[in-house]
Amino acid sequence: MRRLVTPIVLALSLSLAACAGTPAKAPASVAETPAPQGPPRLIVAVSIDQFSADTFAQYRQHYSGGFVRLINGVVFPSGFQSHAATETCPGHSTLLTGARPARNGIIANNWYEPGGPRGVKPIYCAEDDRDPASSAKNPVVSPYHLKVPTLGEWMKSANPATRNVAVSAKDRAVMMMGGHNIDAAWWWKGGAFVTLNGRTTTPAVDKVNAAAAATIKSGAPALPIPAWCAANDHPVAVGKTTLGTGRFPIEAGKEPQFRVSPRMDAATVDLAIGLIDEMGLGRGPAPDVLSVSLSATDYVGHATGVAGAEMCILQNQLDQSLGKLFAHLDSLGIDYMVVLSADHGGLDMPERMDEQAFPRAERVDPALTPEALSKAVGIKTGIVLLDGQLVIGDGPMGDLYINRALDPAQRARATAALVSILKAHPQVAAVYTGEELEKTPLPTGNPQDWSFKDRARASYQKGRSGDVILLLERTVTPIPNPIPGAYVATHGSAYDYDRRVPILFWRKGMNGFEQPQPVETVDIAPTLAAILGLKVPEGSFDGRCLDLDGGAGNTCDK
Ligand SMILES: [Zn+2]
Repeated sequence: MRRLVTPIVLALSLSLAACAGTPAKAPASVAETPAPQGPPRLIVAVSIDQFSADTFAQYRQHYSGGFVRLINGVVFPSGFQSHAATETCPGHSTLLTGARPARNGIIANNWYEPGGPRGVKPIYCAEDDRDPASSAKNPVVSPYHLKVPTLGEWMKSANPATRNVAVSAKDRAVMMMGGHNIDAAWWWKGGAFVTLNGRTTTPAVDKVNAAAAATIKSGAPALPIPAWCAANDHPVAVGKTTLGTGRFPIEAGKEPQFRVSPRMDAATVDLAIGLIDEMGLGRGPAPDVLSVSLSATDYVGHATGVAGAEMCILQNQLDQSLGKLFAHLDSLGIDYMVVLSADHGGLDMPERMDEQAFPRAERVDPALTPEALSKAVGIKTGIVLLDGQLVIGDGPMGDLYINRALDPAQRARATAALVSILKAHPQVAAVYTGEELEKTPLPTGNPQDWSFKDRARASYQKGRSGDVILLLERTVTPIPNPIPGAYVATHGSAYDYDRRVPILFWRKGMNGFEQPQPVETVDIAPTLAAILGLKVPEGSFDGRCLDLDGGAGNTCDK
């Protein structure tokens, strides 16, 4: 489809909107297009991994590709992943279920059941840990732990002709957006897109895999840097090297350089396009749903931070990849509806924040890692474990568990010691026990105004969550030692830089508006369910239907 507005007109309308506080007006060509009647034939649910509201705000003025139409649709710049544990798996689990982690069961990427068969070993959110062949590191991929249905599953139960398809670089994104009843599921593993055990590949997948393999084998040149990235393009010292000026060349045979780059998103979009054609998505007897989770923003955010030339180049490429996907759907004449959001936000690396007016940003004290806390609790209580740690956890934040080898009295002492050690530490913002959160009511109201305890409660599920939940202070990065080019910056905190994400809706003929008040990612599923005319039992969603009409009509009255 032709571009709807020129970038200059778009930038002007946005800056006027920003000054006047009024919604950006859709260009006449959009507003005058008659709205399609009835439910759309295809839902395209896009998740941009680690796409914070801050990153969207920073780059939206520069988009000239697929984002342009979305910005002229319905824009909620303050969508909330309202829970505290802002990780990939919980974030993707809210997008199409309408349920928060407290109810859908996906409280973190990894958790522990120290009293269960895995003992002190972690359980991965998207594995079937009942299978002896599965481990957190090498999972038998499954949606087993997701306790609620996804939108695609609701659609399939209303009409079995619906196809529910999900693609991503990440298996957990595919499982959480697709759910249990999924027609096609593809994620990246070891240099190719793979699927669930027992399923076979298709010509469309083979084609994308062959193209990716050829690129990795031969290597590829640096990607172009747009002129508007100049301000981002300067070196920042991290450890023994610098970051901030990367261009994403691929050396022959280096698969990680392909994965941690905009080319991973481009391949994922090519796969989505291949499956649209191969399966005839959007042209079947019932509406279909295609989930596309694009992981490169997260990989690059972790590897280089979110404000260097790397992220700038990536945003430009991502915008072009989205444009390619939408142009393909337009060329087929499919009536499709797009929702785009993110699993969580993100924070830049402290080394660049230090240069950019935030000198107090720091890395976490290694004393807060589960290993160090284990030793400290042992010293404080005198409890000695011959085998394994007293305190178990996935990292220096979030859920911490007390080893079940302890008797109940020892466990109570260890828990009390852990809480007091954490509360005395200057990098700790809040500490809760699981028992305390269990008694806390589920939060309601504006997610921006929730207390830390409310946020932690929205991530809490009995039997899965930690004995103690640790929330760090603002801008403390929970990576004690950065690995430049792989892991320097992250997310996962209870702060709005990690919770706040854009939520954008677009369909041909839609009257666009921008609503800056907070909404939630759990509002997406009820909003789409209403537009699709799905009958979903009362109480299925934690979120609410958002009226996308933008005028006197109401898309929730169906
Ligand atoms: Zn991440």
